[in-house]
Amino acid sequence: MTTSALTSEDRAVAEKAVNARVLQNFVGGRWIAAQASGRLDLTNPANGEVLARVPLSGHDDVEAAVSAASAALPDWRARSVGDRTQYIYALREQFLKRIDELAASITREGGKVLSDARAEVTRAIEVLEVACASPMTMQGRVLEGVARGIDTETVRQSIGVCAAITPFNFPAMVPMWFLPFAIVCGNTFILKPSEQVPLTSELIGRILTDIGLPPGVVNIVHGAHDAVNAILDSPGIRAVSFVGSVNTAKYIYRRAAENGKRVQALGGAKNYMVVMPDAVVEKTVSNVLGSAFGNAGQRCMAGSVLVTVGAAQKVIMERLKEEAQKLIAGEGTDPKAALGPVISTAACDRVHNCIESGLKEGAQLLIDGRRPSGVPAGGNFVGPTILNNVTPEMRVAREEIFGPVLSVMHVDTLDEAITIVNSDPRGNGTSIFTENGAAVREYTRRIEVGMVGVNIGVAASPAYFPFSGWKDSFFGDLHVHGWDAVEFFTRKKTVTSRYFSRGETGKYFVEQGDKH
Ligand code: NAD
Repeated sequence: MTTSALTSEDRAVAEKAVNARVLQNFVGGRWIAAQASGRLDLTNPANGEVLARVPLSGHDDVEAAVSAASAALPDWRARSVGDRTQYIYALREQFLKRIDELAASITREGGKVLSDARAEVTRAIEVLEVACASPMTMQGRVLEGVARGIDTETVRQSIGVCAAITPFNFPAMVPMWFLPFAIVCGNTFILKPSEQVPLTSELIGRILTDIGLPPGVVNIVHGAHDAVNAILDSPGIRAVSFVGSVNTAKYIYRRAAENGKRVQALGGAKNYMVVMPDAVVEKTVSNVLGSAFGNAGQRCMAGSVLVTVGAAQKVIMERLKEEAQKLIAGEGTDPKAALGPVISTAACDRVHNCIESGLKEGAQLLIDGRRPSGVPAGGNFVGPTILNNVTPEMRVAREEIFGPVLSVMHVDTLDEAITIVNSDPRGNGTSIFTENGAAVREYTRRIEVGMVGVNIGVAASPAYFPFSGWKDSFFGDLHVHGWDAVEFFTRKKTVTSRYFSRGETGKYFVEQGDKH
């Protein structure tokens, strides 16, 4: 488009973008400009307003953070675990005190409704609380008498500089899956937040300064692929945690492991909710809808496929439609809105394409959210959408849509439902709705999915358990939070010892000239 073809409104938007504040990296306790020249506009997904410009940091920016983190490491790992834990307590206090500020930031840059944003911060606080138990969870083991007069102990020590690369959909919670455990275990840390939601990480950086965390213990580098590749290749980084889509997770896992790093890479998902004929209708419907449309379907634990078994179809479908129609899309700050916009215009287009492909392949549109009414102009809104009579080979069943689209399949038996779920290459979450204990047992034992809910829509494990996706939803060995976190962020050392004097001579010290 030539400049003359621009309307005055377009020109005002373009001007605002040029004048928008460029974010800085947080390195060695200071905010510094990225050396790389690339920039990306950050827009509010609810109205297209340019909020800031994100620097696309490169190799030199990442290495500056690695140097700061390496410089901070000797003093930080030498501190007592109790001292390091005090900073996690302080961070938890700040998150509690500033929950509204954090939630507002999440909503502004990510679009989710404020109640979902506050719930996200609450989950982050829960992780911080679990990390405060590290003086207990970091403890090693000792076996007295592995041979006569010889004992062996295992101690856990920090690994070094650790890095996390995070997705857009939980800008406060996902960084907290790693940051508190990494530093409380004596490591220093680099966060590369999603370039689509960098402001909440910036706020977290300010909070870390407020609690007096020593410079360089946590560093934040903004950017996209170049910054990620520099992290994966940096010899100074010992461990990489990643959360994002399946293909990126596979790539990160391979490249970081090739470079000798410890890796945990969480990928995307396709989560099935199986409803049996005896399910409690009201509760099941509200759980299914919350699971499918909460966070506008942009959750790795979103229930995206509903599978009705036998007569469950008759029991549930009418009610599901009726209740779904009551959910409206709107700006995250609007208390009437059940779901906000999706993250970008590209995401909005992708969701539309998926719906259209479903229709072409024979699915029926039960509820059409493609043109929601009463939403702000310039936003990426899609309302709740339900596609009925979907079959496993359709694109909507194969792809992670990551939007407010629920696909519904109907089968005759629980066995058929299990076959469908287990045929999916991913295995993050699933739920079964029934009061029948035998069906629950059969499902929970045979299903190849890491997190299973029984009459619960989104069965994300609490922070004191591991968040444990399977198959293409997870690459690595040690999961996120729970007892796996300390395991991931420490390495074990065994010390086997004996003392020659052993008191046999009545003396517990060796004198010059003593023979042993
Ligand atoms: P994404 O994979 O596009 O991006 C995640 C991170 O990887 C970002 O920081 C991004 O900058 C970086 N990245 C993306 N492509 C890259 C590439 N080719 N090379 C190097 N770096 C790259 O994911 P997203 O769109 O931000 O987040 C949504 C996805 O994350 C969904 O698939 C969702 O299911 C998944 N997710 C999974 C979990 C889980 O626990 N399994 C949790 C949250 C989100």
